[in-house]
Amino acid sequence: MASNRKLPLAAGLVLVVTLIAIGCATSPLGRRQLVLFPDADMAVMGAQAFDQMKTQVPLSENASTNAYVDCVAQAVTAALDGPRSNRAWEVLVFDDESANAFALPGSKIGVHTGLLEVAVDQNQLATVIGHEVAHVLSRHSNERVSTGTAAQLGMVAVQEALSANVPSAAAQQTMALLGLGAQVGIILPFSRTQESEADLVGLDLMARAGFDPQASVQLWRNMARHAQAKQSEAGGAPPEFMSTHPSHGTRIANLEKRVPEARKLYEAARAQGRRPRCSP
Ligand SMILES: [Zn+2]
Repeated sequence: MASNRKLPLAAGLVLVVTLIAIGCATSPLGRRQLVLFPDADMAVMGAQAFDQMKTQVPLSENASTNAYVDCVAQAVTAALDGPRSNRAWEVLVFDDESANAFALPGSKIGVHTGLLEVAVDQNQLATVIGHEVAHVLSRHSNERVSTGTAAQLGMVAVQEALSANVPSAAAQQTMALLGLGAQVGIILPFSRTQESEADLVGLDLMARAGFDPQASVQLWRNMARHAQAKQSEAGGAPPEFMSTHPSHGTRIANLEKRVPEARKLYEAARAQGRRPRCSP
């Protein structure tokens, strides 16, 4: 009996030590972060959450809308470097009036039709998609699943998600951990730090793809106006990017500070022939 008890304890210690060893990472902006899960596990979870989303939200059947969103998303993800550079991203347009978008580990992007009322041209749409892809690049879901009270829940959810037979309750939990609410249109916010990071990493990414980084400022102004209008409507779900502070003013000021640097990336990309032409 005694030796039986010691064995799981020893195994547990090995697990903890292993997790600490793989848990230290740095974000693209050099921030230290705790990420406990291998990227491959997060990718499996992301793919599952995306599949679940497909069963819950209707897809847009408008061919030109789909082509437009795909054009922008593929151009943005084509600017990724490193091991993510030649991965194909699955891009879907969900027929949902909330001004939202999301990206998931496992190379998945979802855009709501309502976003296109706020992000009114390719550069503004690239701002949002860049921001969402930046959350994935920066392993923000992994960080959320790895820290605080979510950590233990995360362990269980990852184990369940990775087992062959996924009950729908586990799939729902996976969605929630990755920031997708069970209710249509609800996208859970990341932390303020993660949002600021996604803004800046996303700005560089869209600029490297040949989209004009100056458009990010107008996009967030549009968003601020949209959020204000929504707030006066009862029960309107806040867009993901609007649901956490930084306040609109701070966010726009931080972006404006970064635009001159991003502009250099943009001009270099244009010179290399990266000139996306996606029309709504
Ligand atoms: Zn965000």
